[in-house]
Parts: sequence; structure tokens; C-alpha cells
Amino acid sequence: MKLSPNFTLEELTRTSYPRLQDTPTELQVMNMVYLCAAVLQPLRDAIGKPVQVTSGYRSARLNAHVGGVPNSAHLNGLAADIHVDSEEDARQKFEILKALPAVDSVLFEHAKNGSRWLHVQTKRISQPRRLANFNYKV
Ligand SMILES: [Zn+2]
Repeated sequence: MKLSPNFTLEELTRTSYPRLQDTPTELQVMNMVYLCAAVLQPLRDAIGKPVQVTSGYRSARLNAHVGGVPNSAHLNGLAADIHVDSEEDARQKFEILKALPAVDSVLFEHAKNGSRWLHVQTKRISQPRRLANFNYKV
């Protein structure tokens, strides 16, 4: 399922520990649509190259297993970890993300094995939006 022109639900729910992952709820999927529209797609469009998401939505069990904080935005589908392949690549992505109004937080994270990635998260009101009515004729 496509969430935006260059991002899919499969990509944002993929994990090395599939047994610990859940199927996201409708609200969590809507959060991922928002994350893609407001953060990931604008980043992808700005750099003009594929953006690899290494971790998006996480179930509580998966989040605990990978050492995520208990209130992680990954639990709501509002965060993504993005692959970076050099300091220059990381700096470029960081600067683009920092300038996006929907970005709540962007930071570098690293694992004990030395791998590095960018964590980016957004905020969204917990209720799905209500659709507008277009009543031209009254
Ligand atoms: Zn993260």
C-alpha cells in the first residue's frame, strides 16, 4: 500500500524481527500517511534520491526489543529512522529535515556496532481530522 508517491506501508512497518511486529491500526496508518506527506516525501523530493527508512512503526513488543524508549513516537507511526551513508549525507538530510515545519525532533542515533542513522519525528493531534463539507448551494 502506497502512503505517498515514494513510500509504502510495507517499508514503514518492516523489521528484522517480524514476529514481534503488529499490524498497525487505522489511526497509526493515518499517522504514517501524515509522516510521509509532511516529512519523508518532502525530504525525498528535496534530495532527489531514494530515502531508506530502517525503522518506522513499531509494536510495543518490537520497540522494547530494539531498546526504544517506552513513549517512543515509533509506537504511533509518527517517527522514522533514516539510513545515512556518510557525514555529508547525514548533514544534508539533517538540514532539510530541520527546516520542515512538521518536524518536531530530528537527531542522530548510533548503535554499539558504530552504525548511525537519523531519527525524525512529527506530532499529530490524536484524533483523525474531520472531513470538510463543500455546500455551495444553500
Ligand atoms: Zn527512531
